[in-house]
Amino acid sequence: RIAYVNGRYVPHAQASVHVEDRGYQFADGVYEVCAVKNGRLLDEGPHLDRLDRSLRELRIDPPMARPALRVVLREVMRRNLLRDGLLYFQVTRGVAPRDHAFPAHAASSLVVTARPVDLVKAQARAEEGVRAVTHPDIRWKRCDIKAVALLPNVLAKQAAKEAGGYEAWLVDETGHVTEGSSTNAWIVDTDGNLVTRALDSAILGGITRRMLMQVAQEAGVHIIERPFTVEEAKAAREAFITSATSFVTPVTQIDDAVIGNGRPGSVAMRLRELYIMASEALAQA
Ligand code: PMP
Repeated sequence: RIAYVNGRYVPHAQASVHVEDRGYQFADGVYEVCAVKNGRLLDEGPHLDRLDRSLRELRIDPPMARPALRVVLREVMRRNLLRDGLLYFQVTRGVAPRDHAFPAHAASSLVVTARPVDLVKAQARAEEGVRAVTHPDIRWKRCDIKAVALLPNVLAKQAAKEAGGYEAWLVDETGHVTEGSSTNAWIVDTDGNLVTRALDSAILGGITRRMLMQVAQEAGVHIIERPFTVEEAKAAREAFITSATSFVTPVTQIDDAVIGNGRPGSVAMRLRELYIMASEALAQA
């Protein structure tokens, strides 16, 4: 495996950044994860738009112009012979003597890694459904920025895993689900409407969330953007999660409550298929 680190393509095992990289010391950086299917990047434009926004919000300089970044992403895919998998790319404020304030002259760091994903296994997981375990949302107030500071997400996911779950559903002080530890959260309510929280600084604007809304609209599924409680989710017809890595994955259990009949919901499975078809059709070489 080959990684890209600040201008060089290096063997993955030797890919490293300096100990005074601000990503390492302050989690002062942002990232993106893109799915690759049949050798094509899915939803590349929206992911690069979101990266630009995250960088702007944190006043981190883009490491290079977009056309150059697109070349680097493709070169990492090519050197890894990546057909189906993920690209991870991370930009930090760069290397500088440790000081909380921004350095005057640091160049931002760019790291890109690739990882193959077993699509058969992912499809099997979707067809089986997963368990979500609720956990208090103890994150900061700018969850709309895709920052590498993920400690609360890490702790929530670990707690979910230890409880036999696949994803953690984060719950705010009012009892409403914000999102998953690395996914957006959705339900199909008892009237058949698709419900997901509206975008604000409490959640990440998922690219899969956005694409799925278009697909759902075209399929004639009514969407309501509003917060929902854990109790409502447990009584919902269906529940599911979305992300670049899981596409649409049905949630068949929340804590100890079985959702619907305990099998993946028909709306979720149909939207999963439609999303995969639509994003593949849009993907550019
Ligand atoms: N919320 C959080 C907290 C995430 O980390 C992710 C995954 N990046 C998502 C939602 C889903 O976003 P996307 O569909 O762009 O992968």
